[in-house]
Amino acid sequence: MPEDHSQPEAPTEPLDVETLDAGEVFAQAAALAQHLQQAGVQWLPQPNAEEVESLTMHFQSVTASPSEAAGNLATNQQPEVDQQPSSPASREIGTSPPRATETVSPPVDSSGNYLPVIDGPYSGSNLSDSQRSNYLAELADQVASCERCPQLTRNRNHTVFGEGSVQPRVVFFGEAPGADEDRTGRPFVGAAGQLLTKMIEACKFSREEVYILNTIKCRPPNNRNPELEERANCRDYYRRQLDTLRPEYIVCLGAVAAQELLQSKVSVGSLRGKFHRYHDSKVLVTYHPAYLLREPTRKAAAWQDLQLMLRDAQIDF
Ligand code: SF4
Repeated sequence: MPEDHSQPEAPTEPLDVETLDAGEVFAQAAALAQHLQQAGVQWLPQPNAEEVESLTMHFQSVTASPSEAAGNLATNQQPEVDQQPSSPASREIGTSPPRATETVSPPVDSSGNYLPVIDGPYSGSNLSDSQRSNYLAELADQVASCERCPQLTRNRNHTVFGEGSVQPRVVFFGEAPGADEDRTGRPFVGAAGQLLTKMIEACKFSREEVYILNTIKCRPPNNRNPELEERANCRDYYRRQLDTLRPEYIVCLGAVAAQELLQSKVSVGSLRGKFHRYHDSKVLVTYHPAYLLREPTRKAAAWQDLQLMLRDAQIDF
């Protein structure tokens, strides 16, 4: 019997998202995923972390009573404790990267307050400018020949190591290279990069005065999110860069960067508006410029995040 490729009938009534029940939607989505897998579908699309967060916030605002919503805003929400590994990666380049199955302690104290997952001072010595430049150049060479992620290695034109000052006061930490970055080997050079440049300049810095890097060094196909295994494979590289640069502030751009650096599953919405810590650096979380291009109404919130850093750093703006 030939396969039936006819399209399902369209709903007769327009979908009213305001009346949707979040629990029912999630249950139906889970049932659909289970059905597809039972039918032999081997691949399901990865969720877009920013869109998931946006939808989650929407459903929370729809389903929560006003007092619940106010309470959620007023209290620190306890992050989920099923975390990715926090144990430091081996500091020897070329040794096995950390595995995504390692366990960690919950990043909350007894009162439920968020705690730094990675604390204590940066490891190793505080290098001079020339030592930093030499070490980073050596590390970039190793990244250029890295083949830990077979799919990314096959499809890349260039690895994108990162660039900027070797004595940066601020590091901007993004998600992954896109097409423009893969073509040029430089981070944040496309449309999102132009917006990031404006954000950096609004903070009274030039691109050359800060450092910009991503969680992984190779472009994922079709700009999908990096897989957990790819993040684990590449973790040692960005950690070594940060160990070398030891900036005063790290600005995480979007959910993937924030969750990777802080080893958390908490949403950007919950991580924003306060400082976290990565070794000796204060960590700020804000939206990814690519997301801000799609949702320009969030630009004001992103600027509020940056202002938090500027006030703390006593930079006039
Ligand atoms: S993403 Fe990182 S770990 Fe994976 S192949 Fe590229 S450089 Fe290597």
